[in-house]
Amino acid sequence: MIEVEKLSRSYGNRKALDSISFQVPAGSVTGFLGPNGAGKTTTLRVLTSWLLPDPGTEKLWVSGVDLLRQPQLACRKVGALLEQLPLPGELRVCEFLQSRAVLKGVSGNRISSEVERVLGEVDATESSRRGIGTLSQGYRQRIGLADALLGDPPVLLLDEPTRGLDPRQVALFRELIDRLRHQHTIILSSHVLGEVEQICDRVCMISEGQICLDEDREAWTRRLESSGTTRVEVVDGSKEVAAGLASLEGVCEVLTDGAGWILHADRDLRSAIGELARQRKWALSDLRTDRATLESLFLQLTGPGETS
Ligand code: ATP
Repeated sequence: MIEVEKLSRSYGNRKALDSISFQVPAGSVTGFLGPNGAGKTTTLRVLTSWLLPDPGTEKLWVSGVDLLRQPQLACRKVGALLEQLPLPGELRVCEFLQSRAVLKGVSGNRISSEVERVLGEVDATESSRRGIGTLSQGYRQRIGLADALLGDPPVLLLDEPTRGLDPRQVALFRELIDRLRHQHTIILSSHVLGEVEQICDRVCMISEGQICLDEDREAWTRRLESSGTTRVEVVDGSKEVAAGLASLEGVCEVLTDGAGWILHADRDLRSAIGELARQRKWALSDLRTDRATLESLFLQLTGPGETS
């Protein structure tokens, strides 16, 4: 579990994070979303102890360890794949991972088996003897993920892990994340909203250093369903049609675009409208629902984004 309370972080006079609070339940995958410059990388860097938070930050716990008081122990609880990893091209994969395992405190007699284990986890066992410089981008990302898994940390922080990968590698990488979700608490920062919608149990949106949404899948799905619109067209429709539509349960607003009506409602209205049309003998010439998407929610909540 990750618990963050009133986390602030400034660069000079500029507050990149302004007293943010959120929790990531153990064993969940949380999508961390926000426009460029919103503060995602800064948050992840603080959680890896790479950056110090500002004084006044109240709580930073990772997997039961207080990162403010025991940063070294907290480091062992967190594996991170941050941005595009600058891997040493001259080393073989196994040499690189062995040196990283030493740095992460894996004991000497366990290093070989640990490297074998993490390569197996990311389906890259066959690359063990290859030079890193010869690997494709997709494989390099997998080696970066293998590095994050060394020492079996309970928390994984993945910053745009599929950026720059081809669609096949993206699909493979998503499969890997899906497999890891059962053993780790994961924060996945991404600009690919479809990816987040597909993989994540929770969504945390950040804008200008502040959290603007923090919901589990059930809550955000409900929110999307309640933010959709339904368009209705009735042959020879009149004001009586508008009044009828407005009387349906769940309708918040009825607007017209000249040819038909657009309904904002907190539920799917299609069957209720069908039933009303049958009762009142309306001939429907159009009936469709546009469900809100995570993308439309993102645009609505995060505003115009970075200005410079
Ligand atoms: P992106 O999606 O572009 O990676 P982000 O959400 O990860 O953006 P951060 O990189 O955390 O955002 O940046 C948050 C704010 O802090 C931005 O205004 C950015 O310009 C600023 N910032 C980040 N790193 C530094 C730095 N080293 N020095 C000064 N300002 C910085």
